[in-house]
Amino acid sequence: MRPQILFPLFAEVSSLKGVGPKVLPLVQKVAGPLVRDLLFLPPSGVVVRRPMTAANATEGSVGLFEVMIDRLFVPGKPGAPIKVRASDETGFVHLIWFGGSAQHIERLLPKGQTRIVSGKVERFNNEVQIVHPDIFKPDEADDIAMTEPVYPATQGLTSRQIRKFVQGAMEHAVDLPEWQDPAWLERQRFPAWHAALERLHAPQGEPDLAPEAVARQRLAYDELFAHQLALARRRRARQITPAPVIRPGEASERLLAALPFTLTGAQAQAVEDIRRDLASGEQMGRLLQGDVGSGKTAVAALALADAAASGFQSALMAPTEILARQHYQRLAPMLEGAGVTAVLLTGRDTQAERRPKLAALASGEAQVAIGTHALFQDAVRFDRLALAVIDEQHRFGVNERQRLQAKGDPRTGGVHLLTMSATPIPRTLELTQYGELDVSRLTEKPPGRTPVTTAVLPQARIGEVAKRLKAALDTGAQAYWICPLVAESEASDLAAAEARAADLRRILQVEVGLAHGQMPGAEREAVMADFADGRTPLLVATTVVEVGVDVPNASIMVIEHADRFGLAQLHQLRGRVGRGAKASTCLLLYGGGDDGLGETAKLRLETLRRTEDGFEIAEEDFRLRGGGDPLGLKQSGFPAYRFADPIRHRSLLLAAADDARLVLGRDPDLTSPRGEAIRVLEALFDWKADRGGAD
Ligand code: ADP
Ligand code: MG
Repeated sequence: MRPQILFPLFAEVSSLKGVGPKVLPLVQKVAGPLVRDLLFLPPSGVVVRRPMTAANATEGSVGLFEVMIDRLFVPGKPGAPIKVRASDETGFVHLIWFGGSAQHIERLLPKGQTRIVSGKVERFNNEVQIVHPDIFKPDEADDIAMTEPVYPATQGLTSRQIRKFVQGAMEHAVDLPEWQDPAWLERQRFPAWHAALERLHAPQGEPDLAPEAVARQRLAYDELFAHQLALARRRRARQITPAPVIRPGEASERLLAALPFTLTGAQAQAVEDIRRDLASGEQMGRLLQGDVGSGKTAVAALALADAAASGFQSALMAPTEILARQHYQRLAPMLEGAGVTAVLLTGRDTQAERRPKLAALASGEAQVAIGTHALFQDAVRFDRLALAVIDEQHRFGVNERQRLQAKGDPRTGGVHLLTMSATPIPRTLELTQYGELDVSRLTEKPPGRTPVTTAVLPQARIGEVAKRLKAALDTGAQAYWICPLVAESEASDLAAAEARAADLRRILQVEVGLAHGQMPGAEREAVMADFADGRTPLLVATTVVEVGVDVPNASIMVIEHADRFGLAQLHQLRGRVGRGAKASTCLLLYGGGDDGLGETAKLRLETLRRTEDGFEIAEEDFRLRGGGDPLGLKQSGFPAYRFADPIRHRSLLLAAADDARLVLGRDPDLTSPRGEAIRVLEALFDWKADRGGAD
């Protein structure tokens, strides 16, 4: 329930003076539907007016001139500007209007009168001029704002209008109880919330707009704290949900023995983390974060075996048919050997194939279900589902995951969740995205990997690349060739990929598979499967090469127009090779024709050449792009902060996460005085799952 004190802030913007039906949709678009949203709209700039004279006027700055009006020049022909000449003791100041009514201007600027004019100083023929100046009478001098915030204007709504509405909204900005720890505020020199908001909308200069300005930091900290509280609350809710106690047993032992390798230290640690969670009686919510090829599947397999050993069922869900199939083909025999029955459920099963599988899951005869989206369909029922494992979790929505988890038996408690991700993101971002989950990281790669040699080449050397490729294919190697979707239309991109496949078929005289996004799923997967099984040596693909597909024999990756990819994406693509014993190569081709490569683009590709560490690449990508939306995170459920910048406010984010957990640990129901104030903060920001944070 929303605290009453917030009601004025949650009033509709239409209740503000001047926000009539015409501007309402514009205000809603720029800020949002509520008075609060206007208050939370930070200015994008600031105008600082400086008193000047015609002689000392600085071009490019906003000047304030006290002048006498000399003359009005009305243009002879339509379209030419209206000019007014004014002057002070030191020289002329020309005032210019493009369009507008001469009579109106003359009324504002009567000849022989003194006026104060203000605007951005330009020089034209070495004379000072101001286009569309602000005009004040001498007796208005005291009312002139020497600094004025600039808001992101949109079509039909000026910065000035927005400023007026924001000021109207400020009148609703009541004082709120302090929700932050006073000692922390003092240490950070943070102003109170209301003062910070006032300062936000009355910047005195550029420094006040910087993320480092204390008022901005205060508001950012509130926002991060509110978000972390929301995540910490969900985390607590999960932890107090009882869930089946799962312990490793004979099946786990046998599965471990059946793995054709020993676990890396990082894998063993992750297994230990998971086992601790599963045995706790509380519901697990863990993210297994590990670069492509880091061996997440084996860790997941042990969890599946543990569940079976304790008499429970589990499900492993993958985003695509081919991945699900690959998991099944690898895991089913090992699980079978450990006495655990697994079934594969995909959208491609016929009714007749499906029926016995569904029956086996419903009766508990099959302990493990591996599959795609088909797994969370209503027809799928479990006898005693206790663990859900989601591979490539970002490919699923929250709802899909919840629908799978909802298949648990309420009598045995909640379904444990293990999600897996190969998207390397910087640690701080992990907090914003997965703050609610516990995280295990596979930081070390399995042994026996041959590092991938990466070369960066101009597209012009493509002939040479083809020749080297031919030689490698002749020795039995397999290769991927990526043609990105870059052109104006998908159709022409597709044509480019088709043409490339045809070229390579002709030049190399080998079978060439072609996989692209517009193919029917089944057809595409058949092409991928031919490649995976070694029937085609070369696979030309648009970016649809499935994340997670494992073809150890593939040792060459050619990426055309590599400069048009994000680093993280290139890293993922490169991760398709270097999975077997063969020395692997990744060739990044850049530019078409004689295009040069920009400095940043060079640095980016250079990063890839230098390192294979996904986390290092993610950090570097982040740095080179200077924040923004480095990894396409906005699309993947990244929170839309209004004040906070997870990069620039990195240390605030860490502090907010700590503080949120601490506060809820001490005062879970938020009944202390600070707790009550914190509830106001929570309601103020009103974090919802759909506003990001991959719950
Ligand atoms: P990902 O983390 O991308 O899902 P996989 O689980 O598919 O990685 O593992 C990639 C490859 O590494 C597989 O072929 C797997 O058999 C192998 N692998 C996994 N763990 C180890 C290990 N500890 N030692 C050697 N090879 C391993
Ligand atoms: Mg995988």
